[in-house]
Amino acid sequence: MTEEKKTFVNLKHARTQEQIDVMTQIEKDGVCPFCMENFLKYHPKPILDENENWVVTENMSPYEGTVHHFLFVCKRHFTMPNGMKDEEKKSLFDLINVMISKNEIIGGSILIRFGDMDYNGASVDHFHAHLIVGETNDGQREKIKVKVGFQKA
Ligand SMILES: [Zn+2]
Repeated sequence: MTEEKKTFVNLKHARTQEQIDVMTQIEKDGVCPFCMENFLKYHPKPILDENENWVVTENMSPYEGTVHHFLFVCKRHFTMPNGMKDEEKKSLFDLINVMISKNEIIGGSILIRFGDMDYNGASVDHFHAHLIVGETNDGQREKIKVKVGFQKA
């Protein structure tokens, strides 16, 4: 019986050279980079805040043009929304709200990709949420571009 090496990252979805380098190492190491025992080893940005279930940090490669791009990473490994405990649902939004008020955010977007990374463009298969904040729309600014999936033919 051969044991297939589980991979927690999807290199196809890396956007920057820094991500490609880190993710290549993660793939070699065969670990989940967002599980807390590995998180600080691979993630170059500090943890900004945390609660019982979540940590919040900056994205190592923020989407182009963002004012804020925070990542909320669960302290427990799971990948699908149905794997999320009730207390994790509540405490995720508690921590999002902490960051919204700390940073005086007036408007932004929350993005969660989940499950099979070939369906959503995610690069790490460990449940996490993005808080993405740009500038005000002055009628001329470029839109912030985000990948959420792939079009059917
Ligand atoms: Zn994990």
